[in-house]
Amino acid sequence: MRTPAKKKNERKTGRKSGVAPRKQAAESSGARGAHADPIATILDALGRGERFLVCSHTRPDGDAVGSMLALAMIIEQMGKEVELATAERIPPQYRQLPGVEAVCTKKRVSGRYDAAILLECDGIERTRLGGLDEMFLINIDHHITGREFADLNWIDRSAASVGEMVYRLGRAAGACLTTQMAQCIYTTLLTDTGGFCYGNVRESTFALARELVEAGADPIGIARDVYFSSPVSKLLVLGAALRRLKREGRLAWLWVTHQDMQRTRATDEDCEGIINVALSLAGVEAVVFLREMGGGGVRVSLRSKRRLNVAAVAARLGGGGHQNAAGCTLQGSLARARKEILAELRGDMAAGRGKRSTRG
Ligand code: 5GP
Ligand code: MN
Repeated sequence: MRTPAKKKNERKTGRKSGVAPRKQAAESSGARGAHADPIATILDALGRGERFLVCSHTRPDGDAVGSMLALAMIIEQMGKEVELATAERIPPQYRQLPGVEAVCTKKRVSGRYDAAILLECDGIERTRLGGLDEMFLINIDHHITGREFADLNWIDRSAASVGEMVYRLGRAAGACLTTQMAQCIYTTLLTDTGGFCYGNVRESTFALARELVEAGADPIGIARDVYFSSPVSKLLVLGAALRRLKREGRLAWLWVTHQDMQRTRATDEDCEGIINVALSLAGVEAVVFLREMGGGGVRVSLRSKRRLNVAAVAARLGGGGHQNAAGCTLQGSLARARKEILAELRGDMAAGRGKRSTRG
C-alpha cells in the first residue's frame, strides 16, 4: 500500500450497487466471469456506492475486529460512509485498537446501505445479525470451509488472515497505509497465526508484518494487549480446564462446565487460548476443548498439528474453520457432545485423514 494519501477515481452512479447476481464466483484462484479479479470486482462495487456496512462473525476474534477496522478505514479513504456492527461485544484485548469505538454491538441491522461486507463468515447466520438478508452482500473470507453465499464472494484459503486480504484490497484501491490501519492489520496476522506459529504462516506473512511495522504498527504493544493483559478469571478457568485434561495417544481433550465458569467468574472470552495450552503437549496431534454454555448446548474448539483436517470434522457437525483450527456448537449435554466429537476425531485419526480435501 502506498504511504501518501491519494484519491481514487470514483464512479458515482448514485444507485444501489446491484452489480452482479448472488453467488457470483470471485475466488482468487480460478475466478470466473466478467470480473476475473475479485479485488477489482469488490472495488467496483465500493466505487459505485456511498454507504456501507461492515460486519463479522459472532464472538469476534483478532482477525474479525482488525479486518473490520482496517476495511472501514479504506472505505473512508475512498470518501464513502461506513458503519460497523457485530452481534457481540469486542473482547477487551482488542479494545485498544484504533477506531474500535465505532463498532456497534446489536442484534439487528437496519438502514440503507449500498452493500454489507461480511468478513470471516461462511454465511449470514455466522454474523448472528438480523436484517442482512435483503442487502447486497460482499463476502471476504479465508476459511477452508468458506462458502460462496453472497452476491460477491472473495475467498482466499491461502491468506494468513482476512486482514491480509483487506490489506491487498487497500493496496489495489490506492489507499494510504496509515499507522492505525497497520496496527489493525498486524493484529489480524498475529492472532490468526497464533503468534506466527500455525500452518498458515508463509514467508509472505513476515514480509507483510515487516511492512506493517515500518508503517507504524507496534508489535510489542499489540502482543501486550493480546497475550499479556489477562484478567484473573482467565487463569482460574484455565486451571479448572487443566484439572480435567485427558489424553489418549495423539488425542487430548479438556472441558469446563457452566459451574466452572460461574465459580471462576469467567467470560466466554476468558476461555480463548485454553486449547492451545493442551496442544503444547509433545506427541499430541489433535485437541478438543468443550465449554458448557449456560443456556444449553456446548461450544467445541478443535486444534490440530500438521495434516489432520479439523475443519472437516467441524463441518460435519455444522461448524467450520481452518485445517488446524476449527469449531462448532453442539446441542445436548456436555457428556454427549464430548462423546460425539471424540468419536469423530478418533475415526479421522485412525483413517489418517490428513489432506485438505474437505470444504464442508
Ligand atoms: P475457535 O476454536 O477459536 O472458536 O475457532 C477456531 C476457528 O474455527 C476460527 O477460525 C473460527 O472462525 C472457526 N469456527 C469456530 N466455530 C465455528 C462455527 O461454529 N462455524 C464456523 N463456520 N466456523 C467456526
Ligand atoms: Mn481469520
